[in-house]
Amino acid sequence: MRHTPPPAFQAEAPVDLAFEVLDRMLRDQAEEHGLALHSGHGRSTWVVLGQGEYGARRDGAGAVVFARADSPDWLFTLKEAAAYQLAELGCVTAQALSWTGPEQAGAHPPNFSLGRVAWVRPLGQNFLRMRIEGQGLERLARDMIHFRFVLPQADGATQWPRLTAAGQAVWPQELHRPAYTISAIDAAAGWLETDIFVHDGGRICAFAANTAAGIEVGLTGPGGGGMPQAASLLIGGDETAYPALARIIAVQDPAARIDCHLFGASTDYPFPAHPGLHLTHRPAGEADLAAKLAQEGVQAERVWIATEKARLQPLKQEILRQIPKDRAHLAAYWIAGR
Ligand SMILES: Cc1cc2nc3c(=O)[nH]c(=O)nc-3n(C[C@H](O)[C@H](O)[C@H](O)COP(=O)(O)OP(=O)(O)OC[C@H]3O[C@@H](n4cnc5c(N)ncnc54)[C@H](O)[C@@H]3O)c2cc1C
Repeated sequence: MRHTPPPAFQAEAPVDLAFEVLDRMLRDQAEEHGLALHSGHGRSTWVVLGQGEYGARRDGAGAVVFARADSPDWLFTLKEAAAYQLAELGCVTAQALSWTGPEQAGAHPPNFSLGRVAWVRPLGQNFLRMRIEGQGLERLARDMIHFRFVLPQADGATQWPRLTAAGQAVWPQELHRPAYTISAIDAAAGWLETDIFVHDGGRICAFAANTAAGIEVGLTGPGGGGMPQAASLLIGGDETAYPALARIIAVQDPAARIDCHLFGASTDYPFPAHPGLHLTHRPAGEADLAAKLAQEGVQAERVWIATEKARLQPLKQEILRQIPKDRAHLAAYWIAGR
């Protein structure tokens, strides 16, 4: 049951499905991802995600899916999350949903904005730091630290996403949009920075190495989890996670104990200083750490690890054997060979 006022921004869409199907879907999601689940007298069910919630309620023999958020951009993200889950069920395609809501047909989706490359500079041996300037970056300056870098077409004829009259985002072109971490942001001054690990064959890497000031890029988000804060943390990752690890270290209380494992080939990244930080360098050492944790146990209050998908597996298995999901964020940041 709800004990607080609902978030200000709301949208809903009727679906031709029994409420029970959606209720089951939401309960499964809450269980799988450790989300808070709410139920309104058996007539509605919703999960909480970031600064909002999405769910379903009975409507005659069918149901209505809804999303509610504290801001229009997060509302949009929740609508997309709900649509994705319904599509995964195999029952409804995202395009078939007709949302009510505040968006305007033809406008860019609220969780998308354009920016321009200000500069790209080498950061140590392995990274390029890119500053992007743009308007409307406030949505990316909250506690979530990731965005999707939308790569423009090489010929300059990029068609960016637009909203339909039903409030759905359409992408006229298939644009490459991998997730990145915001390493620094000043929304009032209109810029953010992201640190790009340079690896063979990377399309964003190639773009960053060859781009010029003033080139237009797209930014969607925010997305992903926030930054855990605790008295003791076990954190780790390969180079793709170094920017996120740096941000997590930077927000910890000076009294916190941070056991940080770096799985990249090098440690050449500017991690912030912290009195409780203990860095261990284990190149590709995810399985070694899993074996160590199997012997010594997970001692930290919170765990945050992100690395290549296959290498994450032994750690994921061991950590979730020992502690509940809601104390651990274990993410695959890239997939080898894909
Ligand atoms: C939430 C989140 C945040 C992330 N933050 C960052 C960040 O701040 N900085 C960052 O550099 N990356 C980050 N990543 C990882 C990044 O999204 C991927 O590495 C992505 O594939 C990079 O896109 P690309 O265009 O460079 O490579 P693509 O063109 O997509 O991939 C080309 C090839 O490179 C391979 N590849 C991808 N990553 C690596 C790697 N690390 N080492 C070796 N081969 C690789 C792929 O398997 C593929 O075969 C993040 C990922 C997630 C999910």
